[in-house]
Amino acid sequence: MTTTSAPTTAITHIAQLVTNDPSLGEGPLGLIQDAAVVIDGDRIAWVGPSSKAPATDNAVDAAGRAGLPGFVDSHSHLVFAGDRTEEFNARMSGRPYSAGGIRTTVAATRAAADEALHANVARYLAEGLRQGTTTQEVKSGYGLTVEDEARAVRIAAAHTDEVTFLGAHIVSPDYADDPAGYVELVTGPMLDACAPHARWVDVFCERGAFDGDQARAVLTAGMAKGLLPRVHANQLGPGPGVQLAVELGAASADHCTHLSYADIDALAQSDTVATLLPGAEFSTRATWPDARPLLDAGATVALSTDCNPGSSFTSSMPFCIALAVRDMGMTPDEAVWSATAGGARALRRDDVGRITPGARADLLLLDAPSHVHLAYRPGVPLVTDVWHNGVRR
Ligand SMILES: [Zn+2]
Repeated sequence: MTTTSAPTTAITHIAQLVTNDPSLGEGPLGLIQDAAVVIDGDRIAWVGPSSKAPATDNAVDAAGRAGLPGFVDSHSHLVFAGDRTEEFNARMSGRPYSAGGIRTTVAATRAAADEALHANVARYLAEGLRQGTTTQEVKSGYGLTVEDEARAVRIAAAHTDEVTFLGAHIVSPDYADDPAGYVELVTGPMLDACAPHARWVDVFCERGAFDGDQARAVLTAGMAKGLLPRVHANQLGPGPGVQLAVELGAASADHCTHLSYADIDALAQSDTVATLLPGAEFSTRATWPDARPLLDAGATVALSTDCNPGSSFTSSMPFCIALAVRDMGMTPDEAVWSATAGGARALRRDDVGRITPGARADLLLLDAPSHVHLAYRPGVPLVTDVWHNGVRR
């Protein structure tokens, strides 16, 4: 909570500030040149030109660095244990590798102590924060038993408000011969145990995981328990995931790598955000999703890391921005919007992803004069300063 006694801080001489509030500045990013931001407690109190900044208790001179909202990473799988270096190395070296993919992580996660899982989540959240991520969604999905999934959402909830129940990540190996039985477990006792600790319900709707009917059963059961839907959709091939997400009013359809024209239309006509996860295509040498037709049709696009130990082991939103600009048809402005305001839309949040009076005081400074450098200088650690909830980290 903001208290009136909290000291106020003005950050001045921001060479170029992305506000994502078109009423405050130029274009869809609401750009302000030589900007200042005033923080009061955990909230943004004032935004405008440096020359008009009000008096404050403290002052920080941004000295010509660029500023933007903290990144909103709306898709990650951080409650895990174990390591899949060998699997990645084999895949990238063209060598066969027969271990179990997600099942490897499930076995290691089940065997891990609570403290080890907490430490892992904290480690990757801190890693993301250093790179500018100030809102992080975290999914379960490597437990796949009632007890292990409930433990995963409990652990995630200790670290973030954006917790997603993903018991339907894959059919548990314990139910290899009875996928229908597993869906009954996920929509019954597992959901009952997990719903109190989660905000979202998610399902991996894909050939080899859950089909359209199974995905619908998982999502509608979660919605009946008060959870909001989001969907892993159309990652590995065409399928019913995007249409299902739109039909159920999901906040987001994630991956969207293989879309039909009807899928693009459906997303453009809806409030369902298309969340693109280029780390997954990078780490599996798969075909990139194409943001251009989505943006041209008027769909809302978000960018996220999909941070997980198997198919996208990056916590770096700047890296995803660079990939999106280089390989997915996005302009630098679009990619930065999608990594901030777009992520906020994908989490149905209006208090993050923008720098406007009343928003949460989450913002970054870059060792660069413009946000465009996030794509122009790929792989360079440009984030020099992060404020999260009004606290400089
Ligand atoms: Zn995922």
